[in-house]
Amino acid sequence: MVKGVILLFGILIGSFFNVCIYRIPRGESIVFPSSHCPSCKTPLGPKDLIPIVSYLIKKGKCSYCGQRISLRYPFIEGLTGLTYMLLYDSLGFSFSFLFSLFFVSLLIIITGIDYDHQIIPDLLVLWGIGGGVLYRLIEGILENTAIGMVEGILGMVLGGGVLLLIAFLSKGGMGGGDIKLLGMIGLWLGWKLTIVTLFLSFFLGGFISIFLLLFRIKSRKDPIPFGPFICLGAYLSYLWGNALLQAYFQLFL
Ligand SMILES: [Zn+2]
Repeated sequence: MVKGVILLFGILIGSFFNVCIYRIPRGESIVFPSSHCPSCKTPLGPKDLIPIVSYLIKKGKCSYCGQRISLRYPFIEGLTGLTYMLLYDSLGFSFSFLFSLFFVSLLIIITGIDYDHQIIPDLLVLWGIGGGVLYRLIEGILENTAIGMVEGILGMVLGGGVLLLIAFLSKGGMGGGDIKLLGMIGLWLGWKLTIVTLFLSFFLGGFISIFLLLFRIKSRKDPIPFGPFICLGAYLSYLWGNALLQAYFQLFL
């Protein structure tokens, strides 16, 4: 029952993230005006705004101009709902759960914006750092130890530092946005899971890029932003990184 409510809540919030992804890089307010079709600009009514359901009923087309609506809208809604439910499953109702919702939400929004525009808004990274510091502080007070904060700062230095080094060695092969992003993620994940994130994001980035090129979904000239892979790597590490590390060490040590 509670899980279902969390799932629905996530799906609803995901529909708001679609608005954020569309509007933040365009410098538009995320609250006002109400949603409209990006193609014909017709304001959308309540029946157009039921997450996932409206998309299915309208068969993925705007009911006013017939323009196709990207599959990404229901995808982000479903993903957010599922993620919230998974986090509830592993954390229960706790302060960590609330903070984890905030963190993965940022990852989802940043992925969408970087994929579309190849930019990572500083504002979102700053929100992530602010939230991360607060999370580490509360964690430290509740558990009466500074170890989380230390791990977070090490993660931040390590994550940002490795990408900064790559940017320096490759003379600009890594964007400033990516460096700041992984720094922020390091604060949340701590240094161990930041290493896992680095491995996963390079592995997935290489693998998925080859796939996109092979199947001609993207051409060599298309920019393939690295931010979404960092976010995906961080997302996977955050949910399953410790299990992954354990399995790895059992296999090789
Ligand atoms: Zn339309």
